[in-house]
Amino acid sequence: MTLATRQIPMTNAPDADAADVRSTDVLILGGGISGLSLAHWLRRDNLDVHVLDRNAQPGGVIGTLRKNDFLFERGPNTVLDKYDSFDDLLAGAGLDGEVLRVPLRTQTRHIWLNGRLHPVPMSPLAFLASPLLPVAGKLALLREPFVARRDDDETIADFVQRRLHASWVSNLVTPMVSGIWAGDPARLSIAYAFPIMKALERRGGSLVRGAWLRARDRRRGAPSADAPTTKARKHLVSFRDGLQRLPAALAEPADPQRK
Ligand SMILES: Cc1cc2nc3c(=O)[nH]c(=O)nc-3n(C[C@H](O)[C@H](O)[C@H](O)COP(=O)(O)OP(=O)(O)OC[C@H]3O[C@@H](n4cnc5c(N)ncnc54)[C@H](O)[C@@H]3O)c2cc1C
Repeated sequence: MTLATRQIPMTNAPDADAADVRSTDVLILGGGISGLSLAHWLRRDNLDVHVLDRNAQPGGVIGTLRKNDFLFERGPNTVLDKYDSFDDLLAGAGLDGEVLRVPLRTQTRHIWLNGRLHPVPMSPLAFLASPLLPVAGKLALLREPFVARRDDDETIADFVQRRLHASWVSNLVTPMVSGIWAGDPARLSIAYAFPIMKALERRGGSLVRGAWLRARDRRRGAPSADAPTTKARKHLVSFRDGLQRLPAALAEPADPQRK
């Protein structure tokens, strides 16, 4: 695989440099993590793959900065390691020995509300006691199984407000979405940003019933009918030299010994 720096015009360029015409099995535009991981999987099928990006640095929005003895992440800081395919990607990139993992369960997330930090509730009892949601927001969970299913896509904010309550959007979902996507829940699509949520609604008619069916599949060891099976024990992952190691390693010229 090669990563080359090139600004790809969004329209057909009539004056393409004829001397620079090469042939390849697959040409990927964009050397962010999507383009680089796709290139990785295609290369394993022995295809000749080229990735073009306008930046010399691979990784797109992923960027680690080292200053003095500190590492700063300009964008994403961790990957949620929930699919087995991620282990294949790490092994293929030769990064097995550099991975740092923190079990997801040991992470307590906090949200700043009304001048204080509050832990995000992780159990039904903690949920009932949490000041993060008003009573109306908590009662909305009882109503949720009876809210009609909607099949078309909508924004995260519309989805959560429709199924739950406006307080979920402002007090829980907005901080969470900022942390994951650095984006605005009133503009991001629920089907693309959180496909599992849409899948739960589609399968169970509601989030509560969909989650119950999914938990039942898991207990029975059956593959989930609504979404790819995720690992039972999930970790947040980064690398000793920061998250940029992943795209940097994927963009390195292929080592024929590595599969
Ligand atoms: C601030 C921030 C924090 C985030 N935090 C997390 C997190 O902690 N964990 C997590 O899992 N996700 C996080 N995300 C989301 C995650 O980082 C992104 O979903 C993911 O990195 C997107 O990768 P991508 O390859 O699809 O797009 P990009 O990273 O945007 O890559 C697209 C690439 O295409 C290139 N390109 C575009 N147009 C052209 C052109 N015309 N010619 C040539 N090249 C072009 C760009 O230069 C770029 O390199 C975060 C996102 C942001 C912005």
